[in-house]
Amino acid sequence: MFQRKKPDASKLCQAFFAEFGAGDEARTRDLNLGKVALYQLSYSRLVFTKNIVLCEDQNYSITTNYMSNPTQIRSDFDNALQTLSLDRHNTLGLACRAKRVLTLSSLAQLPHITALSRDHHDLFVLGGGSNVVLPAQLDRVVVQVALKGIALVEAGAPGHDSVYRIDVAAGEGWHHWVETATQRGWFGLENLALIPGTVGGSPVQNIGAYGVEVQDRIESVTAWHIPEGRLVTLSRTECAFTYRDSIFKRADPGTWLIVSVRFLLPKQWVPVLNYPDLQKHPMLAGMTADTVTGQQILDAVCEIRRTKLPDPAILGNAGSFFKNPIVPASQYVSLKQKFSDLVAYAQPDGSYKLAAGWMIERSGWKGKRQGSVGVHDRQALVLVNYGGAQVSALLGLAQDVRSAVLAQFGVPLEMEPVVVSDSPSAS
Ligand SMILES: Cc1cc2nc3c(=O)[nH]c(=O)nc-3n(C[C@H](O)[C@H](O)[C@H](O)COP(=O)(O)OP(=O)(O)OC[C@H]3O[C@@H](n4cnc5c(N)ncnc54)[C@H](O)[C@@H]3O)c2cc1C
Repeated sequence: MFQRKKPDASKLCQAFFAEFGAGDEARTRDLNLGKVALYQLSYSRLVFTKNIVLCEDQNYSITTNYMSNPTQIRSDFDNALQTLSLDRHNTLGLACRAKRVLTLSSLAQLPHITALSRDHHDLFVLGGGSNVVLPAQLDRVVVQVALKGIALVEAGAPGHDSVYRIDVAAGEGWHHWVETATQRGWFGLENLALIPGTVGGSPVQNIGAYGVEVQDRIESVTAWHIPEGRLVTLSRTECAFTYRDSIFKRADPGTWLIVSVRFLLPKQWVPVLNYPDLQKHPMLAGMTADTVTGQQILDAVCEIRRTKLPDPAILGNAGSFFKNPIVPASQYVSLKQKFSDLVAYAQPDGSYKLAAGWMIERSGWKGKRQGSVGVHDRQALVLVNYGGAQVSALLGLAQDVRSAVLAQFGVPLEMEPVVVSDSPSAS
């Protein structure tokens, strides 16, 4: 492997952004250069040696010196955008042929992505494909995020006594990161174990499970603003997280490309054990907040999830296909009068979150099959692909389920996965 003397990080960053025309004065302030330097050094040694895989299935790679020849990179990238099947890159297992796919494995590629978008290429950012409904033919440039790296932000800085701050690159697998953190004693993410996808995908819909949402553990998210061609670090507040939603999910596709997430995990960890499934789980029997470990919670969560949810490797699915609808207290009261066993959770603002799975089951859809698609027989919130399903069949089933719930309960269900149109004109 090609090795060089460790470079001066902040000088490299300045040179990098100057070279790619991505540095103006305002941006230099925004960029948090030290942080970018950290990514550059720890993720991919990007400035000096590069080995970028542009298309996983093609085994095509380019080795080049980015600092010296940006024009060459552009033409290399243009030549290397290849057609690729995304069948194995979405957990629903839908057949999808993407016209052009670019694997992002270095920050050095970011300016090129902006150049593509300015050249009127429509972009779609793909993580692990565990929360998308893909069309049969995708005419956008698909940017597959494969940035890697986990770095504990150095201790000694103010405010580091009571917390661990860890920067994690967007292409890291989510569960791999949760396991790594737990093994190192950085607790707080264990309730979110075994959720498929990438770290970069986690803030998009503010993933949540077993009483924890990822927003509870995030300090900031650093993303490339594709149209403006600059890195922006958004605080947790600026991410505007809500239930299964964020600024990233609400934005037009091709606006934000998350490159890393900074997690904030308190050293004085307080386990979250109040979720009913955890309270009654035999692996946690007799445990209290003082005696339980993060690893024990992680193991219990994995065990519960393996029992309850279909494994996408065996049965294509995207986890919950519908969000749990949130309704005002007045609507909850009138529904409760009609359906005494209605399952609902009071929210801090006085509203109620209704269990969509319960309503789907009550509408008679649990376990129902329509050709190649169906509603899972153990978890009514999950729609499954029995094999070879067309996207139209899946969306047709989703529509039938929604209509049934609306007719019986008067509550519209919102889909949780992102339905990707084949081209923006089709949206
Ligand atoms: C079996 C199963 C169980 C699940 N359980 C849960 C659960 O308990 N809780 C939960 O909240 N979710 C759950 N999910 C949904 C899914 O795993 C999460 O939403 C996950 O975070 C999606 O990440 P991803 O990398 O796969 O994103 P993708 O599916 O690739 O993309 C989803 C959206 O995020 C965008 N995106 C992805 N990466 C980036 C990036 N780097 N920058 C900008 N945008 C990006 C995409 O453009 C797209 O709009 C489950 C899914 C499955 C299949």
